[in-house]
Amino acid sequence: MQYSNIKFNYLLKCLILVVCTFGINTDISFAQNDTTGPKNIIIFIGDGMGLSQISTEILSHKKPTVFESFKHMGFVKTHSHSSLVTDSGAAATAMATGKKTYNNAIGLDKDSIAVTNLMELAQANNYSTGIIVTSPLTHATPAGFYAHSKHRINKGEIAEQLVQKDIDLLIGGGRDDFNNENSTELYLLDTLKNKGYTILSNNENELPNIQGYGPDSKIILFTSDFLPSGAITGREYFPQYCKTGPYYLRKKETEGFLLMVESSQLDISLHSNSALEFKAEIHDTEKAIEALLDFARKDGNTLLIVTADHETSGLAIADGKIGRKVDLAFTTNGHTAALVPIFAYGPGAENFKGIYDNTEIFNKVTQLLNWNP
Ligand SMILES: [Zn+2]
Repeated sequence: MQYSNIKFNYLLKCLILVVCTFGINTDISFAQNDTTGPKNIIIFIGDGMGLSQISTEILSHKKPTVFESFKHMGFVKTHSHSSLVTDSGAAATAMATGKKTYNNAIGLDKDSIAVTNLMELAQANNYSTGIIVTSPLTHATPAGFYAHSKHRINKGEIAEQLVQKDIDLLIGGGRDDFNNENSTELYLLDTLKNKGYTILSNNENELPNIQGYGPDSKIILFTSDFLPSGAITGREYFPQYCKTGPYYLRKKETEGFLLMVESSQLDISLHSNSALEFKAEIHDTEKAIEALLDFARKDGNTLLIVTADHETSGLAIADGKIGRKVDLAFTTNGHTAALVPIFAYGPGAENFKGIYDNTEIFNKVTQLLNWNP
């Protein structure tokens, strides 16, 4: 009896020891997983890129597209404060500041009060910053990430604010916004030079090698004086800059980087209900996302978020042949209120599952990075 009591106590102690040991180990591994958040953030926005737009690319090809590589996805509600159907300004403001606002507003809340955006938070937290778009740099979506203005039409005001922001890498069109009578200050290009920017242009034969610039440089690369050309005309640089841009930003001795990328001209092709132009843009978009996903995979510390600001054209896939062609039908030449897909890859990607408001993108990113708005 006594012997079996001793044996029982011995076995009990062994059991407690095993439970404690494994328990402690398990806790440590969970703690490590919880604290390993993303270092770099890339937010990719397809302007007007709803589910039918993505389906067009998926169904037109026999091979799987980049969209099928993602494991974490959800849907985003895009309505603005003033309207069920948002414009790009209010949608960008919601994603970049966490506040719903009225259509056409840039970086202001519903009461027209300036609200802190992700670019400002990134800089306050010692992050390097970048913007790559196929629109002018002053266009509503990029502007929503760095500027504050009552109306997206105030290009001069938005350009002046961009010049003062010290964003490390800027690639897009609209050189003219920085050098003409639209600005109260006529020579914003001189201001950029004085602030240490290297001003580059798209060369017809060879793209500027932005990866070749050192960590202390700042680059503004104009791809055109006004609106850049569409993908249908043979524009090829967008995926290429998406390939090199993250490597340039990663060189900098900062805590990480925030890169905002927009495939802007999907929206233009959809507004004009041009199936040919749209198909060229969505294919270019896929190549750009592929380049960014390739970086995120190799880097391992980068969270890539792919979504849209709203759906455009009420696109429907009416007929076609799988893997060969799809016949498209447009129900409007404006935007719609349809929910848009969101995809995420990298540390923290699982947080982007579900159905939620576009303002949650800001909340999720700031929570993952412990940034206090
Ligand atoms: Zn639009």
